[in-house]
Amino acid sequence: MKNNFSQYNLSDDLIKAIDMLNYKEPSEVQKKVIPLILNKKDVIVKSQTGSGKTAAFAIPLCELIDWDQKDVQALVLTPTRELAKQVKEDIFNIGRFKRIKCVGMHGGESFIRQEKELKQKTHIAVGTPGRVLDHIDSGTFYTKNIKYLIIDEADEMLSMGFIDEVKWILQEMNKNIVTVLLSATMEEKINEIIKNYMHNPIKVEIENGSINKPKIDYEFYESNEKEKHNLLQDITILENPDSCIIFCNTQTCVDFVDEHLYDNGYSCNKIHGGMDQSDRTSIMNRFKKNEFRYLIATDVAARGIDVDDISLVINYDIPEKSETFVHRTGRTARNGKKGKAISFVNKKDLDSFEMIKDFLELDNLLLPAPKKELVELNKEKFDKKTNEKLEIKNDKGANLSQDILKIHINAGKKTKMRAVDIVGTFCDIDGMTAKDIGIINILDISTFVEILNGKGEMVLEALQNRNIKGRPRIVSRVD
Ligand code: AMP
Repeated sequence: MKNNFSQYNLSDDLIKAIDMLNYKEPSEVQKKVIPLILNKKDVIVKSQTGSGKTAAFAIPLCELIDWDQKDVQALVLTPTRELAKQVKEDIFNIGRFKRIKCVGMHGGESFIRQEKELKQKTHIAVGTPGRVLDHIDSGTFYTKNIKYLIIDEADEMLSMGFIDEVKWILQEMNKNIVTVLLSATMEEKINEIIKNYMHNPIKVEIENGSINKPKIDYEFYESNEKEKHNLLQDITILENPDSCIIFCNTQTCVDFVDEHLYDNGYSCNKIHGGMDQSDRTSIMNRFKKNEFRYLIATDVAARGIDVDDISLVINYDIPEKSETFVHRTGRTARNGKKGKAISFVNKKDLDSFEMIKDFLELDNLLLPAPKKELVELNKEKFDKKTNEKLEIKNDKGANLSQDILKIHINAGKKTKMRAVDIVGTFCDIDGMTAKDIGIINILDISTFVEILNGKGEMVLEALQNRNIKGRPRIVSRVD
């Protein structure tokens, strides 16, 4: 097995995962950052989302992790829960065959569950600053073995008011850790962190370094608040997208647009910060699987969402900041695909419109609302698509999961089950080695074990009449 990541002398387990994720060639940011982190240098990375920046730190982290150590060795800080989940998923996929255990530490999920996970062997933690501090304060997160700290989207940490929390976390770290800071902009407060906490950092700046430069068609329509929902319907009829995100500036607006589209028969759903975390997660997962066509969102969805094939992004409200515009529109045209970004501009938004045009060096004019006759002409095609069943997609890791079977054992911590007991019993089965065992998760009265390399069925069968830790157990597959 060989791809162009072999040049970094990565372990076979990583190369195999990278190969299965279909990353053939390192992106610009990866070419620069991977060797630096592997050489344990502090790095400042200035690059946009879509450049492959997550894998640029996730790959060397997974390589550097010492599998045998019990306590967390690397901490990744992200500004939002969504991004934390995305990063965790990327680390999970990249580190899957090395059996890297990664825990999420963010709000919206049970603190106690995270605490339990942290008590087991955990290699990497990914979290938002508030929850990470809560765990540090409660003594549930042991930081003394951390060797690598990644501060992702530091500019967003600043604009969301988390920068002081980041500093407090930095003060908890050992002095000699490797720190990597990623940010699209470098404001004074970010420079302070660099000055005070990083050691001779190497600066990496990627201009237009997208894996494939986004090919986005931008269009801007004149709008007024009262008529916007009608304009939205007309535009969606004309564009008739396969998958679309509609961004609003407020939660109230998201609620309104969602209700309006739903009442008009659209396959839609919404996500904003006022919703329960479990609802947000479930909606995002369903959107990724293409279970509905239109996602209406505030900026909680502008970062960290990695969904392929979003053909259209609509700014129902134009954002005030150009960076936000870039992040929102960057949800389309990913991985070399083409995309379109349409924005509605009210009279009061003309300054933002000009600023965004300057920022992106665009020379677009404001377009008038499309003619009713044109909309009518396209209505039949639109209705046809609305009535078609959506094709459900696999998630990105599905490829990796093919060879993996997860099994459940009806015994856990209460019966003193330990990872060594599992590994011992499983490796006794003919044809099994420790390398075929993936992540082991021991809960109070249950244990989940991943069997890799297509050996799951064989193990499942063998365990039906074999003792585990001295007793027969019920062993079943988890679907
Ligand atoms: P990011 O900039 O981290 O948000 O990554 C953007 C997208 O590129 C994600 O979907 C990654 O899975 C994907 N990706 C990362 N590295 C590569 C690579 N070397 N080749 C192809 N796709 C990649």
